[in-house]
Amino acid sequence: PPPPPPLGELCELCHVDLRTEWGMPHGHLVDLHERSLACACRACYLLFTQPRAGGRYRAVPERYLSLPDLNFSAADWDTLGIPVDVAFFFMNSELERVAAFYPGPAGATESLLALDAWDAIVADLPVLASLDPDVEAFLVRGAGRRGGDGKVEGFVVPIDACYELVGHLRRLWQGFDGGKEANDAIDAFFARLQERSVPADAGTAPARSEAEV
Ligand SMILES: [Zn+2]
Ligand SMILES: [Zn+2]
Repeated sequence: PPPPPPLGELCELCHVDLRTEWGMPHGHLVDLHERSLACACRACYLLFTQPRAGGRYRAVPERYLSLPDLNFSAADWDTLGIPVDVAFFFMNSELERVAAFYPGPAGATESLLALDAWDAIVADLPVLASLDPDVEAFLVRGAGRRGGDGKVEGFVVPIDACYELVGHLRRLWQGFDGGKEANDAIDAFFARLQERSVPADAGTAPARSEAEV
């Protein structure tokens, strides 16, 4: 038989070769047991698109929303206990808590948010109540202590976009605030997010990609 394709180009469930599938980027599943991403072919992806379908895997939706009316202050940010100015948050359905991740020299650091801290954020940004647990995240930048222009950017993004950012930053991050290369990479990443996103009030329901099939 021919040698198998390199890792990451096979569906991790049925092992079909993803490079020959549809000629489009493949979807991802969150493995709830391992808290990792699995690459999936279309058929396997669609098996896991039902919210609360149960089981080990959940399909990562493809909704990108920009949140134009963020009014995070540095003081609000301090109450979250996050020492840098970029972080993402998602509901961990197994713990029934919101987890915060932020980059640092050792990779991403995870902390669980106090329930009232998350409730206060959602009270300001009701669209966040629609975050799909485990597979969508609230990604925010600019509210920390690094100073800068005071601009705060926030997005609802698929969790695989956050993993991608974490991967870039693991290679680039230096010192306490990341250094120039890491911050340039964050700038570029947020510019791409801005291009992909629609404003939050233009659509608040999770848009899974089967709508495009
Ligand atoms: Zn498959
Ligand atoms: Zn993949």
